[in-house]
Amino acid sequence: MRANALVSAGAEMTMISSSPFHYYSGMAPGMISGLYSKEECRVDLRRLSAAKGVKFVEDDFYKVDPINKIVHLASGSTLSYDLISFNTGSRVPSELIDETGDALTAKPFENLLRLKEIITASSGDNHLKVAVVGGGPTAVGIAGAVFSLAKKGGSNISLTLVEERGRILSSMPKRAEKIAAKSLEDRGGFLLTKYKVSKIGVGAIECFNRESIPYDIVVIGTGLVPHQHFGRSGLKCGPDGGMLVNEFLQSVDYPEIFGGGDCISIRGKALPKVGVFAVREGPFILRNMKALLAGGALKAFKPQWRYLQIINLGDGRGVAVWGRYVFAGKVAMLIKEFIDKRFMRRFLV
Ligand SMILES: Cc1cc2nc3c(=O)[nH]c(=O)nc-3n(C[C@H](O)[C@H](O)[C@H](O)COP(=O)(O)OP(=O)(O)OC[C@H]3O[C@@H](n4cnc5c(N)ncnc54)[C@H](O)[C@@H]3O)c2cc1C
Repeated sequence: MRANALVSAGAEMTMISSSPFHYYSGMAPGMISGLYSKEECRVDLRRLSAAKGVKFVEDDFYKVDPINKIVHLASGSTLSYDLISFNTGSRVPSELIDETGDALTAKPFENLLRLKEIITASSGDNHLKVAVVGGGPTAVGIAGAVFSLAKKGGSNISLTLVEERGRILSSMPKRAEKIAAKSLEDRGGFLLTKYKVSKIGVGAIECFNRESIPYDIVVIGTGLVPHQHFGRSGLKCGPDGGMLVNEFLQSVDYPEIFGGGDCISIRGKALPKVGVFAVREGPFILRNMKALLAGGALKAFKPQWRYLQIINLGDGRGVAVWGRYVFAGKVAMLIKEFIDKRFMRRFLV
């Protein structure tokens, strides 16, 4: 948070967040496996705001009235603004499954703290059936971490990963899939591909192929989509409901409204929901807000098409993917730890 730059330019700044803590989901598998404490994975927003001269409001953003420049919060209170930036992230689109019962979604982060509690509380005598729906980097990271946690705590678990496509990590090269699948299967994981979940009933997941998978605890990690607040605000949105922005990260209709990360859809560029874009967009939003306040040219954000993605396999190794190159092992995991910890250090005050 480099808000000082705007505060010293004379702006009065307010941060609105539904929680006093911002959790970094990239560290979630590490938190589940016990590599990190929950405190190491989060930013204390109240403290950070106080240190940067920013007012902090703990509330849920509900909608914005862009004509009158007013933000409506879930508590019923309102706030007026001259400039605003939305960075509300994403959620798991669980509504795509007919019924989800008591399933936990991979976001918000607090759900994964709950998952960890349940597995930790299960004793070795009681067999716990864990199911993870999804086969992308999120689901694979969670599955690997669950094995690691169970091994350390002596919990007796079985784990089934349920993926509708023909293979896991379908957005990554085949070699990454093979490494991740072997890592999970070597630890006893069952990988079910071409299983599309229709309903999560009590104690059993039902699939369109008429098979059912028994479970005690299920996590849904089927991808990420923006929250629904932009549609209800009447702002122009992309296909997934993210606020549609131009290359300067401004709403295409309202230049005083900015946004970044998982909650936006850049016109003409569909970006995957990964942290690197959220992190890289931040400085552009700040710079362009300053330019609007003080006068000056706005700078276009040009997304990189190749980026490094490292999945924590939960067995001490990581699998790193950069374009079509794949590299796996302990070194990949050390690189991920280094990058994640360095990122979190930026918010220590
Ligand atoms: C389990 C998991 C593991 C992942 N691992 C990786 C990884 O290793 N590498 C990687 O690059 N990406 C990873 N991702 C994806 C990555 O987390 C996202 O791309 C990244 O978090 C997006 O950042 P963001 O700032 O846009 O949103 P977020 O990090 O989701 O932040 C949004 C913030 O907005 C707040 N908020 C939400 N709604 C409201 C509201 N209505 N009112 C007020 N505040 C609100 C939230 O509390 C949160 O603090 C992972 C995702 C998951 C779920």
